[in-house]
Amino acid sequence: MPNHAKIQFNASGVPVSQAFDDIYFSVDSGIDESQYVFLKHNGIPERWASLPPQYDFVVTETGFGTGLNFLLTWLNFRAHAKHCTRLHFVSIEKYPLSKQQLTQALATLPAVSDVANSLLEQYPATEPGCHRLLFDQGRVVLDLWIGDIEDTLDEWQSCLAERVDAWFLDGFAPAKNPAMWQSALFETMACSAHAHTTFATFTAAGIVKRGLSAAGFNIHKVKGFGRKREMLWGEYPSATIKPSRNQTPVTIIGGGIASACLVQALQQRHIPCRVISQGKADGASGNPQGAVYPLLHAERTPLSRFYLQATSTALSYYAPWRDRYWFATGVMQPAFNSARVERMDKLAACEYSEATVQPLTPEQSSSTANLAIEQPSLLYPEAGWLNPKEMVNGLFAEHAHEWVTDTVKQLEPTQNAWSVVGVKATYSAARVVLAGGHASPALTNQTLKITPVKGQISMVRATTETVGLSKVLCYKGYMVPAQQGEHCIGATFERNQADLDASSSADEANCESLAACAQQRWSDGLTVTGHRVSIRATTPDHQPAAGYLEPQLMLFTGLGSRGLTAAPVLAELLAEQLSGGVVPLTKDARSRVQPQRLMT
Ligand code: SAM
Repeated sequence: MPNHAKIQFNASGVPVSQAFDDIYFSVDSGIDESQYVFLKHNGIPERWASLPPQYDFVVTETGFGTGLNFLLTWLNFRAHAKHCTRLHFVSIEKYPLSKQQLTQALATLPAVSDVANSLLEQYPATEPGCHRLLFDQGRVVLDLWIGDIEDTLDEWQSCLAERVDAWFLDGFAPAKNPAMWQSALFETMACSAHAHTTFATFTAAGIVKRGLSAAGFNIHKVKGFGRKREMLWGEYPSATIKPSRNQTPVTIIGGGIASACLVQALQQRHIPCRVISQGKADGASGNPQGAVYPLLHAERTPLSRFYLQATSTALSYYAPWRDRYWFATGVMQPAFNSARVERMDKLAACEYSEATVQPLTPEQSSSTANLAIEQPSLLYPEAGWLNPKEMVNGLFAEHAHEWVTDTVKQLEPTQNAWSVVGVKATYSAARVVLAGGHASPALTNQTLKITPVKGQISMVRATTETVGLSKVLCYKGYMVPAQQGEHCIGATFERNQADLDASSSADEANCESLAACAQQRWSDGLTVTGHRVSIRATTPDHQPAAGYLEPQLMLFTGLGSRGLTAAPVLAELLAEQLSGGVVPLTKDARSRVQPQRLMT
């Protein structure tokens, strides 16, 4: 569990760490100091002008703190980076500021308020792991790692190799925080380096100078900022050229949320992309409403850790569509039986961040939901619901790709490519991503443990009691706040069924599961006005399948009933794997979504 930073604010409004007895940035001028030490001595923004077109510039920082360095780099990027496609800022923080602390700290820096507000809007729940956030239509990417640098270096070795352009070393002073300046960091920096990698730091301490020198960096000692006598910057004498981005075209088979998110991620990396599908959002992504919130076990399991990271990216990803397709109402899980109460107690013992989940008493539950819940419940305050159908159509409409309406029947390997055999035509594809839900495994020559699950949602007319429901309710099924006088409730879970026949018995099952949650208090009088059936693809371990199945063939399916939460981060993962960029998610989370685990 990360501990929140213990800070106080000095007379100038600068945050001071009580644990380290050190300031977060200069009392004289945090902005000037950051610009001088970290940007200027890493050659930013000047070096951006001479980079090849469509270059992804990667900065890695030790000590995210208030995010000031990130915000300044972002502002510089907005103003000066003509050639770079993206700014990718990777940072680590062991003691994250709470949103409230961050708001107070950044309030003293009006010069960065524009981007600071965007950061605050998307600041993730401070859970351990890698939180990928997207800003400026994906041109600015922040991977905020929450955890101890000692544990994170091993993660970074695997994802940063030869990819970092500039290092900002900003842990507190080495004498006060030696853990932040270990030789393992300097070795990771060397692994991450290529011919143009630089670093800068505010300190000139001997331990830092000797450590970086031993790791192979050339070191320069120069005048420090303000009253500081000296600081260090340097470069890595390497002949290795940073690998250029792989822009070989990609063909995606499928037209749901996975495909739509991947189209966006590929377009942001300038990778040409073709989508072959029988329709847009015609599977489970065609539902009018679906909840977005983390799937949490009662213990901090790997599955919970994956969904916590996925949720941060999903909330960041959907934020620009707020109040259009995305409604951050909050999600509530009433504990409608004794097993649920027990789970709730266990979950509370996990000490999740308040931004992730909070326990509510029966009275709080009712007032929070604006409906007589009268049971204890869990509140996911930052979660909400999405209109996936509109979202998928919106993503396809806004991002360049070639659309082909066809039903793919077969996939055949050819020399260095794939032959995609459709009903109407055959297409040649260098790289293929199968994102066609439960139909995907049949296109591979493997037997994969991916099961179709039929799900029927029902539309019910709101009553005077339910019409004011303000949160998504998740019980065995779910109920979404009314839109135009109707709630969407669902969904049935009919394993191994892949037909699309709707039934009144499924509507009844949806109403019964709602009645069990409502304990008959307000579920009478809800009349069914419509329904929709779709098929979800599920896996035995409830983790999606996202990654390479074999060379030039990826799988992106098995999203189960959490596709809206998982798809954005997995699209980022696949796009980075396809382009050779810095991947999101912890190593463990990445390995647990690998499709090979589902081979029989
Ligand atoms: N770059 C920051 C900014 O722009 O506000 C200031 C960073 S502050 C000087 C140093 C940061 O390093 C603190 O936020 C502190 O919590 C973090 N830190 C200290 N020890 C750490 C550790 N072992 N692992 C990760 N972060 C650590």
